Amino acid sequence: MRYATSCALALIAAASGLVPVFGAELFKADEPVPADAIVLFDGKDLSQWVLCDSETPAPWKVENGYVQAGGGDICTKRSFKDCQLHVEFWVPLMPDRRGQGRGNSGVFLQGWNYEVQILDSYGLKSGAGDCGAIYSISPPMTNACRPPEHWQTFDIFFHAPRFDDSGKKIANARMSVLQNGVWIQEDVEIPHPTPGESMQDPKDPGPVRLQDHGCPVRFRNIWIRPL
Ligand code: MG
Repeated sequence: MRYATSCALALIAAASGLVPVFGAELFKADEPVPADAIVLFDGKDLSQWVLCDSETPAPWKVENGYVQAGGGDICTKRSFKDCQLHVEFWVPLMPDRRGQGRGNSGVFLQGWNYEVQILDSYGLKSGAGDCGAIYSISPPMTNACRPPEHWQTFDIFFHAPRFDDSGKKIANARMSVLQNGVWIQEDVEIPHPTPGESMQDPKDPGPVRLQDHGCPVRFRNIWIRPL
């Protein structure tokens, strides 16, 4: 009877939409977005993004609550350094392609500097070029990939490199990554940027960059917490 009563109260509280049942308020609504997060893409528009290295509106197509890569890399208008970044992604089934041609995209931190690879790596023994790798530097500890055409998550915890007053680097960038809730990168030191525009570690904040690598990879529900 007591159980039934507490269930009924919980149902009333949930239905009212007012009362977080446990502890302090963690989320803004019933979506899993922390209350202090900056929403970068909520499925509706790319107003927080531009075509990278330009002021041109981001050209990727938004439909059905997701955005699909196409037309060049896109970058956030805002710049960040240390952060927690949540990204949901979907890689297409591309049976005619092989290796780096299958569902390639990527999430870059602090500009075009530190890439967490997106690829169709389902069922493979993951290397440093596979999904969840810090590209060319650190393979994921385990392959946590879902099959293509399934939504997946990255939760990326990033510390930017540190410099002293003379501009000398005194600490490497570091990153931890969860893929689909599985810990795949554990506080990995990143000695230099992943291959891209520059091999110089950045001193300044930079945008989040999503890669258009010629594959129709989709994204949804992207948020960031500057740390
Ligand atoms: Mg890539």
